Amino acid sequence: MKYKNTIQLASNCFFIKGFKKHLLIDFQREEWFHVDFNLFKNGSLDLAALEKEEIDYLIENQILITVPTKLKKKFSPILTNFDVPSIIEFAIIDRNSESHYPIEKTLIWLDQLLLKFCQIRYFSMPSIGDIQHVLNLTSSSNLESLELLLPYHEQFIVFFDENLRLFPKINYLVFHSAPYDKNEIANGDTRRLFVRESILSSNNCGIVHPTYFSHTRKHVLKNMNFNSCLYKKLGIDINGKIKNCPSMEFAFGSVDDIESIKITDLETEFWYIKKDDIHVCRDCEFRYICTDCRVRVVDGIKSRPSTCLYNPYTNKWKGDKDYNEPEIFTTRA
Ligand code: SF4
Repeated sequence: MKYKNTIQLASNCFFIKGFKKHLLIDFQREEWFHVDFNLFKNGSLDLAALEKEEIDYLIENQILITVPTKLKKKFSPILTNFDVPSIIEFAIIDRNSESHYPIEKTLIWLDQLLLKFCQIRYFSMPSIGDIQHVLNLTSSSNLESLELLLPYHEQFIVFFDENLRLFPKINYLVFHSAPYDKNEIANGDTRRLFVRESILSSNNCGIVHPTYFSHTRKHVLKNMNFNSCLYKKLGIDINGKIKNCPSMEFAFGSVDDIESIKITDLETEFWYIKKDDIHVCRDCEFRYICTDCRVRVVDGIKSRPSTCLYNPYTNKWKGDKDYNEPEIFTTRA
């Protein structure tokens, strides 16, 4: 074939092999789409197996590029290794009206672990003073990004309308129990989401749906190397118990005895359960853009999330005609 030695995959494009369909992710244009072509031979991408029309289509869309043979080595594939320098990168802190553990002590400890992303979920109404205290503490920390989940109340809307620009680390504000659904950008790049759903406990987490898929390079590489939800993550539950995830039973300790928790204790086996290790997920074309949950699972630590509504063997979502629950295939065992 005349193209054989001169075409290759653009370095910004990445294919994920599924059981029936494959996914193409374009990191540069930030988009993903299904590909039905037979792209793989013995599990590896094999461009020589493509028909001429398929090659032309992929070249036209700048997914394949033509490269002079002598320059081929200069267009190397994207590196797929991944890690982050923080001891703990992401934390979820849960609060309700019964939460009496000290938030200041919690945030100072997390800052010592070089925390970068934090989500604080208020399941009941905090005071404006509580929020202001948290914002002041995080302003001078290593934190890069803060997400707040709050019950909808007019006083919070007014407070953030007046003060959001003072706290540039806030990148997401979610108001649950709102009278309407709305998704908007406020003050530059802070996303503000209003949802009718009442989020009153950690049980609302772990939903698998295309809305939550993420095709950023970081998310894809994290999913390829580690568990995208639990790697270098901590959850502080409503009682101040420190866990890998607030919904888990096992706790490393509590905020009250935080001094006795060793950094090495925080690492769990869940950090290393990748999508490629999980039954059904490992055959799914969405596996590197999907979310994961190791708390709500179908049956066992390496089974797919029970909140998943997709069958990768038939490419049907629950609600589609002829949807059925996926069996555990062993295609990639
Ligand atoms: S099977 Fe479900 S949970 Fe697993 S990767 Fe696919 S969509 Fe995600």
